[in-house]
Amino acid sequence: MDTLNSSNRGSTLYVVIPCYNEEEALPETVKRLREKMNELISDGTISDSSRVMLIDDGSADRTWEMINALHNADRLFCGVKLSRNRGHQNALLAGLMTARFRCDFTISMDADLQDDIDAMDEMIAKYKDGCEIVYGVRSSRENDSFFKRATAEGYYKLLSTLGGEIVYNHADYRMMSKTALEALSNYGEVNLFLRGIVPMLGYKTDVVEYERGERIAGESKYPLKKMLDLAEEGVTSLSVKPLRAIFRAGAAALLACLVLLIVFIVQSAVGIAFTGWKTLLLVMLLLGGLILISIGIVGEYAGKIYLETKHRPPYFIECIVE
Ligand code: UDP
Ligand code: MG
Repeated sequence: MDTLNSSNRGSTLYVVIPCYNEEEALPETVKRLREKMNELISDGTISDSSRVMLIDDGSADRTWEMINALHNADRLFCGVKLSRNRGHQNALLAGLMTARFRCDFTISMDADLQDDIDAMDEMIAKYKDGCEIVYGVRSSRENDSFFKRATAEGYYKLLSTLGGEIVYNHADYRMMSKTALEALSNYGEVNLFLRGIVPMLGYKTDVVEYERGERIAGESKYPLKKMLDLAEEGVTSLSVKPLRAIFRAGAAALLACLVLLIVFIVQSAVGIAFTGWKTLLLVMLLLGGLILISIGIVGEYAGKIYLETKHRPPYFIECIVE
């Protein structure tokens, strides 16, 4: 009900940041966030119990030591340490689910400040206007390599043709209110693709555009393999259309076979010699390939079901400093 009375919304913000081997980027990120948060607190936009929550996703470098030191020096920062590396989506979920009991709304972003932190102002304004979810959307991808841009755009298109509801050019820079987080907590999925699940929640939603910059320091923690994994996760966790596509491909292949068969029968009836070994090879390869791909796709979904039925916890929190 409190969405109707939006001016009275609580104003404790938690900025949630997953960090994996971010010792190079953290100092600058922290400096800028501290300025930003203090500014927002002192002009009364957010309450003074607002925090920046850094999630250490099992880093192998000094990330956790840095988070600890930060927390000891300034209570604006708190930290959550996961028991091991669980990947960006799980680390983010761990942070959101921990923050949910401590704040009125969260803003999630990456540790490398590729997302413009000044876009937070608009996100907060929209939250106060009654939005439960606000997506940060990149206005352009000029700072990405041609490869990343082309693959990303192709991917968004693929997902939307497959029926996945996903916000174009939105990564994980987003505002979520307590209500939205509460709803999210009901998704007990092991295979988590936040970008696909959050739009399913509904509620009053809006978008804030911003320019995405370059990573301030360190290297991308998303090598091609992790990117492909996430992309595949997105497709198979949002859509069962690939399974239907297999069926259709099978049906088409069968039809083609029937047509060929009829052609061959007619040919042999009119006395044309049956010199079909090349065609045979082609058809065999085609069918073999189709069958293998199909088994692979079915296997992918079966694997998903296997993992889901185990109900494995997506992460363990080793400790929290706050
Ligand atoms: N990250 C994480 N766990 C991982 C990989 C990445 O928590 O296993 C974090 C990382 O520290 C960063 C965010 O996820 O805050 C996004 O990663 P990155 O900036 O490297 O991805 P890119 O922007 O290159 O896609
Ligand atoms: Mg980045």
